[in-house]
This record gives sequence, C-alpha cells and structure tokens, in this order.
Amino acid sequence: MQSYDFDLFVIGAGSGGVRAARMAAQRGARVAVAEAGALGGTCVNVGCIPKKLYSYAAGYAESFEEAAGFGWKLHQPTFDWPALKAARAQEIARLNGIYGRLLQEAGTRLIEGRAQVCGPHEVQVGEQRWSARTILIATGGQPQVPDLPGREWIKTSDAMFDLDPFPRRLVVVGGGYIACEFASIFNGLGAQVTQLQRGAALLRGFDRDVQSFIAAEMGKAGVALHLRSQVSAIARRHDGSLELTLADGSAIAADAVLYATGRVPNTTGLGLENVGVRQAANGAIEVDTHYRSSVPSIYAIGDVSSRLQLTPVALGEAMALVDHLFGDGHRRMDYDYVPTAVFTHPNIGTVGLTEDAARERYGQVTVFRSDFRALRHTLSGRDERTLVKLVVDTASDRVVGLHVVGADAGEIVQGFAVALRAGATKALFDSTVGIHPTLAEELVTLRTPIAAAA
Ligand code: FAD
Ligand code: NDP
Repeated sequence: MQSYDFDLFVIGAGSGGVRAARMAAQRGARVAVAEAGALGGTCVNVGCIPKKLYSYAAGYAESFEEAAGFGWKLHQPTFDWPALKAARAQEIARLNGIYGRLLQEAGTRLIEGRAQVCGPHEVQVGEQRWSARTILIATGGQPQVPDLPGREWIKTSDAMFDLDPFPRRLVVVGGGYIACEFASIFNGLGAQVTQLQRGAALLRGFDRDVQSFIAAEMGKAGVALHLRSQVSAIARRHDGSLELTLADGSAIAADAVLYATGRVPNTTGLGLENVGVRQAANGAIEVDTHYRSSVPSIYAIGDVSSRLQLTPVALGEAMALVDHLFGDGHRRMDYDYVPTAVFTHPNIGTVGLTEDAARERYGQVTVFRSDFRALRHTLSGRDERTLVKLVVDTASDRVVGLHVVGADAGEIVQGFAVALRAGATKALFDSTVGIHPTLAEELVTLRTPIAAAA
C-alpha cells in the first residue's frame, strides 16, 4: 500500500478547516493544516466575531438614548473608536492563540503559508511538498467588488474593522447580510450612513415582511436607505473626501465607501486546474453529498464550495466529512431548517421557509403575524417595533417558517429552530405556555391568521 506523509492535509485553518483537522486528529488520523493568514479564518478575524463585538458597541448608543426614559441621567457619552479597535484586536489575538493551541493539542501539524495543490495527493507550501491520502480544501471566500471607475477607493468588510479615521459619512453599497449589518453598526457608532441597494428590497431570499420591516426600522434608526440605486463612478475630491455619482446623475459625498456586494470562493492560485477539480462558474468547488470533488482524493467544505455561507454550516460539514472519512459514516449535514440571524439593529432571526417559498412548496399555507411595540419601548422613548411571523402548512398544521425582527431575534430563533426541525405543529405552539413578559411569548400566542390558504 502506498504510504503518505499525512492521512489528511487541510488547506485553510478557518471555521471548517480547524474543526475537520481537530476531529480527524482526535480519531487517530495524521493531519496537517496549512494556513496563509491568521488562525480562525474569516469568522474569527474579519467576520462573525469582530462584527458582533462592534454590533454590541453600536447597541450602547441605543441604550444610552433609552436610559433617560428609565430615570437615568447621563452626561453626553462620547465614543472612542481607537479604543474599540484596540479592544477588538486584543480579543481576536487571544482567539488566534486558542485556535493554535487547539490544533497543537489535537496533534495536528500546522504549516504556515499559502498552499497549492500539485497532484491528487500532493500539496506544496513554499518550497516544500507533502503527500496526503486525502486533501481537504477549506479556503473560504473573499469579498467581490464590481468594476467601476474609482474602484480603488472602495473598502470591503475586511478593511472596516480597522478603518482610520472613523468615517463621519459612510456609504454602504449592497443589501445583503454584510451591508445591512455594517450600515446598522456604523449608524449606531455615530456615522451618517447612506445605504444604496440596486434592487427593490433588502436581503434577497428573506421573507417579504422581514425585508420591508427591517428597511423601515433601519430607516427610523437613522440609516438613509436608497433602493433601486446604482453607483456609476467614485472620485476623490481635493479635500480627500469621496464623491459617488449615481446612475440617475445625483451625487453623494462620503468619507468612506463600503461595498458589500457578495463573496466569491477562494480558489485562485490553488492549483485546481493542475488536477482537474471541477468548479462552478464563480469558482466554487463542485462536491457530492460527501463533499468529494471530481478528483476522488480531494474534498471541499465551507464557503469554498458555496452552499450556505455560515460558520455553523462549515462546522457541520467538517464533522460530517470527518465521520465519513474516519468514522462510521452516519453523520449528515442537514440543510433544511438552518436558522440564521442578521445582526442589524434590531436583529433578524429566521428559520424555515419564507411565506412565498412555503406557498410554492405546500400550496395552502396559513400565516400568522404580529407587529407591536416591545414593553421596553413604552418607556425608552424609541419607536422601534417588533415583528413576529409564523408560516404554517395548512394541510399538516406544521410550522414551516418562523421569522422575527426584534431585540435578540437570533437568541430567540435558535430555540425555536429545534421545534421546527422536530416538526412542531401550530397546535403544539398554541399549547405551549408563554414566558411573560417577553418578546418571544408572542410566538406562542398568535391566534388569528392574517391570510388564510391561498
Ligand atoms: P474561512 O473561515 O474563510 O477560512 C478559510 C481560511 O483559508 C482562511 O483562514 C484563509 O486565510 C485560508 N486560506 C485561503 N487560501 C489558502 C491557501 N491557498 N493556503 C492556505 N490557507 C488558505 N457567519 C455566521 O454564521 N454568522 C455571522 O455572524 C457571520 N458574520 C460574518 C460577517 C462577515 C463580515 C463575513 C465576511 C462573514 C460572516 N459570516 C458569518 C460567514 C462566515 O464567516 C463564513 O461562512 C465562515 O467563516 C466560512 O468558513 P470556512 O472554513 O469555509 O472559511
Ligand atoms: P450577499 O450575497 O448576502 O449580498 C450581496 C448584496 O450585494 C446583495 O444585496 C446584492 O444585490 C448586492 N450586489 C451584488 N452585486 C452587486 C453589484 N454589482 N452592484 C450593486 N450591488 C450588488 O453577500 P454579503 O457580501 O452581504 O455576504 C456574503 C455572505 O456572508 C452572506 O450571504 C452570508 O451567507 C454570510 N454572512 C453571514 C452573516 C450572518 O450570519 N449574520 C453576516 C455576514 C455575512 P441583489 O440582492 O440585487 O442581488
């Protein structure tokens, strides 16, 4: 039998790669991991974690504003951007260290540098080549920005965490997760934010009520949202500020411009063409249900294979793959009822189908929806509202979609996601006692459908 340097060579120490490497090593496999950047990948360094920390920071602005309604007298609070950046950097460095220790303690070999695939069982990093029975590509993705005059002035989300100076006027282009989250964050931190979305709604793929509700709430919070709006050019003025010219001829001045216009898989320079790994038009590695590419010894998980670009999905895929390669092969990643949150202000939490998708799949659906002012805002002085919505398959009474826009929606929806995966019916929701007074109790007290079967 041919012998290899490693049983598994993982390229990329991000969410999926680290989890796969550690779990494979724990099962006795000889594992190497190559990483070209910082340990932990997108999520830890320029994604979920710093983004959520900044979202907390932005949330304080709301809390200070609301405090007076509850009897607190505060002096005008001031925001120290360099202090937030330094605190974030320190926490991320701590996490990088933890990831390093986890890989080391699991017995994997960490190889620093950019890896390239040279053959079905061969990987090169720098001058050195290694052989492996199996190669796992977990290289994630990177921001993509359209070509337009002045493209050089554009920032992507990677650069936003360390922006210097703090932008007094920020233009955010895009209407997806990143655009909405960063618009909310910088608005909360005190920037004057204008968000430009080319389509007629934010957050394509989300429930229609969620799309319009969050647009209204972000607007009330201070984000100037322009729908059906396209940038045709960006120019730098003499004073160093930027001027965006829009397709309709109007102009907007800004100190920084963030493009959050989607992400593409990191496959350039990986050497996939050397071995004939099949890729989709956007570069995503095509895989089968076991994450195997068109080359039998090469697998891919996470954003580089572009299913759902979420950290828990990359982790789930890693665990299913390791079980397939080194375990009993029973573990599967189930892509149904994957819950997700958008950390806008207020948050969005969603699991299951949108109303439109449910109608398409089930024909007859019953929809329950409530839109109300949360108890907190009776005294806070803010006019933020909360949306809860349930989509029910009329024939089976199963709840097939659950959507929340409101404080801590992600925390709420995580729990309900278990119920939806378990096949909970509307009758079961109705028989569940609420926790009073909470926002989440609304989800078990919705009694009157707003739209009967279509
Ligand atoms: P990554 O985590 O991107 O890791 C890939 C790694 O491979 C990187 O470390 C990279 O340096 C390395 N690499 C690339 N090429 C090579 C090479 N040739 N050789 C060696 N190493 C290489 N998801 C959520 O679930 N919740 C959130 O709140 C959330 N927020 C996000 C916010 C932002 C701003 C962004 C950009 C993403 C966010 N995501 C969020 C998505 C999440 O970060 C990704 O889905 C997740 O990180 C994908 O994991 P991965 O293992 O596929 O890739
Ligand atoms: P998305 O795909 O979510 O959104 C891209 C946005 O950019 C869309 O609104 C799209 O418009 C718009 N767009 C695309 N091309 C252009 C263009 N040429 N000109 C103008 N607008 C354009 O990508 P993101 O970058 O926001 O995020 C990538 C992924 O990362 C997300 O899909 C998500 O999976 C993950 N993520 C998850 C988070 C979370 O879990 N909280 C947070 C952040 C990211 P249109 O709708 O018209 O196509």
